Formats: sequence, structure tokens, C-alpha cells
Amino acid sequence: MDKIRFATVWLAGCSGCHMSFLDLDEWLLELAAQVEVVYSPVGCDLKIYPENVDVCLVEGGIANEDNLELIHLVRKNTKTLISFGDCAVTANVPAMRNMLGGAEPVLKRAYLELGDLQRQLPHEPGIVPELLEQVLPVHEIVPVDIFMPGCPPDANRIRATLEPLLKGEKPLMQGREMIKFG
Ligand code: SF4
Repeated sequence: MDKIRFATVWLAGCSGCHMSFLDLDEWLLELAAQVEVVYSPVGCDLKIYPENVDVCLVEGGIANEDNLELIHLVRKNTKTLISFGDCAVTANVPAMRNMLGGAEPVLKRAYLELGDLQRQLPHEPGIVPELLEQVLPVHEIVPVDIFMPGCPPDANRIRATLEPLLKGEKPLMQGREMIKFG
């Protein structure tokens, strides 16, 4: 039987959700035996998101042009896309900048008003991705199949979400253990 093609993606998040994924400890060995990891910032160095991915955990909100481009590619190439953690589900922490009214005030505050040496706005087309005006949750850009809240979701919740998917079943995202935020 072909192994499940498994990916994880890190967008605008602190990587805490991926750290929680690593808290799966020895169950990671069981997972590794059942899946082929085809893309991930953890233990996989492929730079291009591949085709025919079965399951993908997406950490983080959509904050810049790179995030936007990647999430469209992820959606196009993935059967089951999971919004992984509160930043993916609600935009959460990265969306705090939305209150400042757009990308420009944030950039000016960070790089001009608070800069120490050589105050300048970061701008290098093709290298520094442009910020979007607002940070958005994943489902406001592309359809999401499963929402897994938590900041971060703990390892038990991650395992309880992935285990049914490995058997070709959909996890039941119900109750405090599975859908509590924060
Ligand atoms: S949900 Fe929490 S732990 Fe996960 S990326 Fe966002 S801030 Fe970090």
C-alpha cells in the first residue's frame, strides 16, 4: 500500500505549533512508519511544495505575498488541508498588527521610528516578501478541511486528529479536548 504523503507548512506563526508537533515524541516514529514526509520545515529540506499531498498541517496566518502564494499551491496540491493552531484558524497573534490599520504604519513603526542604525524600510523585490495590508486566517483565502485550534494545539490533540486520517477516516473535532482555543 502506498504511504500517505504528509506535509507541514509554516506560514506566519511562531513555530510553536511545530514545536508541539515534535512533542509527539515516540509517536513520531509510528507516524514516520506510516507516512512519507514530502514537505516540512521539520526534518525535510525540500523547497518546492509537491503535487499529490494527502494531508497537510498548516501553521500560521497569511501575512505576506509569500504566504499567499504558498497557501494557494498547498490548497491546489493537497487533499486534506488542516488549519493547525490558532494563528491558522483565526490569525491570532500575527493579526494584532491589523489594529494599526495596514502594513505601512507597522513597517514605519518597526523600521523607522524604532530603528537604531540605518533606518530604512525593508524592500528587495523577489527577496523580501511584501506584507499584506491585513493578516488573515487560512480559510479566508482557501477552503480548509479541518480546523485544529490551540496555541499551540497539544500533542494529544494533534495525534487524535492525525490517527483517524492515517486510517482514511475523518477525525471528530468536538469537545474541549479537540476544539478549545488558546
Ligand atoms: S497558534 Fe500559538 S503556538 Fe501556534 S504559531 Fe500561533 S502563536 Fe505560535
